[in-house]
Amino acid sequence: MTMIGLEIHCQLTNLQSKLFCSCKANYREFEINENICPICMGLPGSLPRLNKEAVKKATIIAMALNCSTPEKIAFFRKNYFYPDLPKNFQITQLNIYGDTSVGGPGSIMVGNKKIRITRIQLEEDPGRLIYEGSSSKNQITLVDYNRAGTPLVEIVTEPDFETPKEVRDFLNILSDLLENLGVSDPSLEGAMRADANVSIKGGKKVEIKNIGSFHDLEKAVHFEITRQESLSSRDISIIQETRHWDDKRKITVSARSKEEELDYRYFLEGDIPWIKIEPQIQEQLKLEMPESISSKKERYVSKYNIPSQVAEVLSSDKFYSDLFEESHNEKTAKEIANIITTDLMGLVDTREKRESSKLTATHLRELAELIQSGKISRNSSKNALYEIVKTGKELSIIISELDLGNVSDTAELSNIIQQVISEEPQAVEEAKTNPQTINYLVGKVMQKTKGKADPKVTLDLLKKQIGVQ
Ligand SMILES: [Zn+2]
Repeated sequence: MTMIGLEIHCQLTNLQSKLFCSCKANYREFEINENICPICMGLPGSLPRLNKEAVKKATIIAMALNCSTPEKIAFFRKNYFYPDLPKNFQITQLNIYGDTSVGGPGSIMVGNKKIRITRIQLEEDPGRLIYEGSSSKNQITLVDYNRAGTPLVEIVTEPDFETPKEVRDFLNILSDLLENLGVSDPSLEGAMRADANVSIKGGKKVEIKNIGSFHDLEKAVHFEITRQESLSSRDISIIQETRHWDDKRKITVSARSKEEELDYRYFLEGDIPWIKIEPQIQEQLKLEMPESISSKKERYVSKYNIPSQVAEVLSSDKFYSDLFEESHNEKTAKEIANIITTDLMGLVDTREKRESSKLTATHLRELAELIQSGKISRNSSKNALYEIVKTGKELSIIISELDLGNVSDTAELSNIIQQVISEEPQAVEEAKTNPQTINYLVGKVMQKTKGKADPKVTLDLLKKQIGVQ
């Protein structure tokens, strides 16, 4: 039996400052080694000051993953010598005096399977190592400390996964959940990283480190299962070790024998007192938690009669559900859900496109109302939406500039129908006995109006003018 456990590192990207100092949590906008101070550089005499908001956000994550949340939490020093941490230790959490991490045991459903969460801890992210040089002989390693000290939440699962697909499904659900909570933007480079433990047939556990994206995590797990099965089939024993994921070659490579927790010489961080999270604060945090994805989905289905699949797509993506919440009313809800999931998704399918999109909730509301009142066809609304996303112009201006309004004037439509009748005498004759041919004629009218005629009105007028029922 294959057993896979995960350790997911998620940056709290929506915070203002780092975990223990006032440097910016958003380190990405800085030049190398600009976002640093004596505290995150671990200079002698500097003292950490815990970011209260980070504790709150981490607690909210624990609650959303149905984890227990202790009343008292503690921080520990994890000692290791590596250039990405200038202090030579990382401030993190550990459960040796009972559950003193922000989150205790919990669980989350992935399809019909329950995945148990072991614990959730709050810690500081190390700096970033940058490798330069063309070969391993003259390789240079540079360190950028802008990231050192940014708040990181580690989510540790029990080895409950059996296949790479289960891992992927879990990661998708987790990443939507974190985004919905407003604590992290998983689409930012490096915001989500993971380690995985893999063992087969009750054998030794191999840890894969250094997996920089969820996409690679699934591949790494798949590779590792195949590697272990291949060894096992040749009666070669699998050794307990740490392997690194080589994302260029897409393989895992042996790094070193795995450290035991003892190697890190954990001890209590004396510069940070135990933190009490009173029950009333926990209650308050529960109240402040955003509506869950599943509850949103249920509401969209039951209140607006939106099809379940559409509601699922809409609720699981915060960008779309925020747009929907801001723009809809009872009457337009279904139409707006439709515009977002059938037309908008194709236009803003990357982070860059979302950021440069000029679309507002007002645009969406107006567009839905025009479709519902028959002033613009579904077809033309796609062109209008494309233009809105690109330019952000007012909808009325776009419609007149691109001439997208429906042909609602019956006299004008009648004229166009007359033209089609005189151009297609054979089809008109056939239409008198074959109803299918009428659709062909409706199509011709649509072509002439560039899709701006109402198909139902056109059909009625056509029948009248040809003289069929
Ligand atoms: Zn700092």
